[in-house]
Amino acid sequence: MSQFTVLNPATEQAVTTLTQASAEDTDAAIGRAAAAQERWRAVAPGERAGLLRRFAAAVDSHVEELAGLEVAGSGHPVGQARWEAGHVRDVLLYYSATPERLIGKQIPVPGGLNVTFHEPVGMVGLIVPWNFPMPIFAWGMAPALAAGNTVVAKPAELTPLTAVRIGELALEAGLPEGVLQVLPGKGSVVGQRLVDHPAVRKIVFTGSTEVGSQVMAGCARHIKRVTLELGGKSANIVFADADLERAAATAPYAVFDNAGQDCCARSRILVQRSVLDRFMELFEPAVKGVAVGDPASPGTEMGPLISAAHRQHVAAYVPDGAPVAFRGSAPDGPGFWYPPTVLAPVGADDPAYTEEVFGPVVTVTPFDDEAEAVTIANDTPYGLSGSIFTSDVGRAIRVARAVETGNLSVNSHSSVRYWTPFGGFKQSGLGRELGPDAPDAFTETKNVFIATEP
Ligand code: NDP
Repeated sequence: MSQFTVLNPATEQAVTTLTQASAEDTDAAIGRAAAAQERWRAVAPGERAGLLRRFAAAVDSHVEELAGLEVAGSGHPVGQARWEAGHVRDVLLYYSATPERLIGKQIPVPGGLNVTFHEPVGMVGLIVPWNFPMPIFAWGMAPALAAGNTVVAKPAELTPLTAVRIGELALEAGLPEGVLQVLPGKGSVVGQRLVDHPAVRKIVFTGSTEVGSQVMAGCARHIKRVTLELGGKSANIVFADADLERAAATAPYAVFDNAGQDCCARSRILVQRSVLDRFMELFEPAVKGVAVGDPASPGTEMGPLISAAHRQHVAAYVPDGAPVAFRGSAPDGPGFWYPPTVLAPVGADDPAYTEEVFGPVVTVTPFDDEAEAVTIANDTPYGLSGSIFTSDVGRAIRVARAVETGNLSVNSHSSVRYWTPFGGFKQSGLGRELGPDAPDAFTETKNVFIATEP
């Protein structure tokens, strides 16, 4: 039986040691989920909704505990971690309205009528990355459960603590045994088994494009449903007519949130050439003002990176001689720290400009006109997020329509919101999560003809 020690990324001290699930443990969990599936789908809609609300209430009364686990086990700043735990509650509450609203259609046809039903897909395998252990777990788990499916979730090996605790809270809230199970373990063991096991009917995967493509290939063998939320290299486009103070003040939070370990990080800032110097003057104090430090301290805005290996990966994008325009600060001593770093000017073939860094590194690139801004923004295999700063509403809409990406904000750095669909264009993914239609992706439409002729 293998063990995994969770490290505190801010101190490099051990937090706790967990037993890793094996392929046999995964098969056993799949067996329990299969046994629970028929009972769960038969729970009356109002009762299922009530159980999800009780689950949300249990999360609500443990926000501090969950936040503490995320601070210790993932290095998230405590304010962010509290928000994330509250977000799990909110997502559960939002989808608790689903069971009573899984409404089918009545379709007029000759000789009778047709009715449609939304039937649960069945058992769902949920594979979660380490960067946002709570939100990403909730986005798949809540609509899947609400639509009458059972869920076997695999948190990332590095950050399993909050998902394990949320799984316990589900049981304490009264969800029947086997309906939601959390299995900490390796992707190559537990994750792979969920993909390969024929009884798992859908995989919800969030992670790298490389592993996502393997997961898709594995699902293809069983014609298994799959949703993929993958990487990004998003642009923050600042036009000369924008409120430059606002654009510069918010740009750090569009890329350095979660220490840049964010698929929606706007890690390429594109600035119209005529205001580039002014933007950089305003951006420098904003970057230097990001409070980087002890995640447990309430004023902290940015914590450490997740691991020593990941810090090495991020640092490789800023080799000696890299064009560092300016940097923020980071603590010395233990912890996987890396300062907010701004690179400019960068070559079009610089890996920091072309690849997803997944750390607090941003490039700034000038453009001359709207057409060039769109061309540069789209010059990437990814298409997940993006921001546009302009005071011209027509341009905002034109550019938003022209940028090949799934989620955009205008004059704002906001990214994912649970009320609206989330997902990527191109290699950023397949399918959509969140929003009012998310539960539909966890159902199959069944069509039934009823003869009315005598
Ligand atoms: P990985 O793809 O390495 O891992 C993601 C998850 O997949 C982990 O739980 C991992 O397990 C598991 N996994 C690994 N190998 C397999 C396998 N063969 N079969 C099944 N599961 C497997 O990504 P990271 O954890 O490094 O996450 C970072 C990436 O995630 C970035 O590219 C980022 O952009 C993307 N991301 C996308 C988001 C989106 O919504 N579009 C949101 C957040 C992140 P283990 O932990 O054991 O490695």
